[in-house]
Amino acid sequence: MADKFDVIVIGAGPGGYVAAIRAAQLGLKTACVEKWIGKDGKTSHGGTCLNVGCIPSKALLEASHKFVEAKHDFDDMGIQAGDVSMDVEKMMARKDTIVKNLTGGIAGLFKANGVTAIDGTGKVTGDKQVEVTDPDGKATTYEADNIVVAAGSVPVDIPPTPLTEDLIVDSTGALEFQEAPKRLGVIGAGVIGLELGSVWSRLGSEVTVLEAMDDFLPMVDGTIAKETQKLLKKQGLDIKLGARVTGSEVKGSEVVVQYADAKGEQEVTFDKLIVCVGRKPYTQGVIGDGVGVELDERGFISVDDRCHTSVPNVYAIGDCVRGPMLAHKASEEGIMVADIIAGHKAEMNYDAIPSVIYTFPEVAWVGMTEQDAKAAGIEVKTGAFPFAASGRAMANNATEGQAKVITDAETDRILGMHIVGQHAGEMIAQGVIAMEFGSSAEDLALSCYAHPTMSEAVHEAALAVEGHAIHMANRKKRK
Ligand code: FAD
Ligand code: AMP
Repeated sequence: MADKFDVIVIGAGPGGYVAAIRAAQLGLKTACVEKWIGKDGKTSHGGTCLNVGCIPSKALLEASHKFVEAKHDFDDMGIQAGDVSMDVEKMMARKDTIVKNLTGGIAGLFKANGVTAIDGTGKVTGDKQVEVTDPDGKATTYEADNIVVAAGSVPVDIPPTPLTEDLIVDSTGALEFQEAPKRLGVIGAGVIGLELGSVWSRLGSEVTVLEAMDDFLPMVDGTIAKETQKLLKKQGLDIKLGARVTGSEVKGSEVVVQYADAKGEQEVTFDKLIVCVGRKPYTQGVIGDGVGVELDERGFISVDDRCHTSVPNVYAIGDCVRGPMLAHKASEEGIMVADIIAGHKAEMNYDAIPSVIYTFPEVAWVGMTEQDAKAAGIEVKTGAFPFAASGRAMANNATEGQAKVITDAETDRILGMHIVGQHAGEMIAQGVIAMEFGSSAEDLALSCYAHPTMSEAVHEAALAVEGHAIHMANRKKRK
């Protein structure tokens, strides 16, 4: 038997590495096991998020957005940039450098906080035992009073579109294209599909998104989803709803995709196809036989609201457990679990987890949609403010979108905030904090917002709940 630890974390994604750092900060002897091998052939920390998720996708989204701005928007502002072109190879190299710096940074944080990094594949073999098989195949068993499983998730693949070397790829493959394909198909109009579709559309691909559901972004407030769909369509994304992909065939350097929609069987040919139909928990081989950690019917590790599994002192967090598959949700669970292990009281507010789609403009939301609240029998009031009426949005050349606040009609408590607009992902933090503090729309309305800022739209939306917006004509009668 090798070293004994207070805590062993399996997986160094945003769930696992945060849990490990927090546990070590709280004085617990902590190790974190990671098996990811980076492009340099060495162990890479940071999980999906830093290696092939949040960060590389945002590096490409930002670069491709700046390209579009330089090409199409600078002229409006009186800037003549001449012939603007995109060097995709350089854009990719920049993305890889960011990934390398950040993943390498986690190893530095582990060192600084006294976390022992163990390279290899971890397996829970007992309620206090983790076996690690190192990259050379050597197995070592470690003892730990507490185990945190943070094994994350992997892309879902579907039988109609088996992945190929480079024609039919998942989100990871779509972060590695060396040029913009002429005709690009994306299966799934979820967050990842829209982000990756946007990147390549901006760089010149004709993008068709095939989405099985009839509704566009059903998790987003209806008004905001509708406006987002309109804006993405205007940018050239051909989003086909009610289009279920049923088959595909690789023909030379092309891929022919069959799908079924209301009109019947259809066929479309692409130069590349990205399959973005969701992610599934990654639990394969992580829990040894007979340990007793239960999975639910969808393959997630079953946990309660404090991330306890069915085995005492074994916890599970992040994408491998229920709840939204988001890096910040994983990290918050990591902090909560480390606090609990250290003997502190800790809990999470699952009702106030924000989501962001990093298209342009961004879409961000927290809490209930108007349709959810109504379906739950809650009488609501809403206030919305368009960025077209915002001075800062005009100055920024970003007048598309709106901010919307949803409140309980009886108490004025904020139930949700939904925004489509430039920097919506930054602005939504106001909604999160407001909800954490149980604020009313009046609390936001009475707060003093800096002028001129995009956030003033949130202030105006809060004022509009009672028909008191200043910078637009209110639809509701003032009291
Ligand atoms: P992961 O990040 O998946 O990390 C799990 C780690 O565990 C991995 O490093 C894996 O190698 C390791 N592991 C698994 N099994 C073992 C084992 N047996 N032994 C050792 N190590 C093991 N989320 C956001 O919040 N914002 C975004 O903008 C965003 N963009 C995304 C874009 C893309 C293209 C993708 C694919 C995802 C995106 N996500 C985003 C989702 C986000 O990446 C995940 O929600 C997040 O990474 C989950 O964190 P995690 O720690 O639970 O798991
Ligand atoms: P998300 O889970 O948010 O990443 O989104 C994945 C999307 O893919 C969902 O909106 C699904 O409806 C969609 N999807 C799943 N399978 C198919 C399919 N065979 N054809 C088209 N869309 C699909």
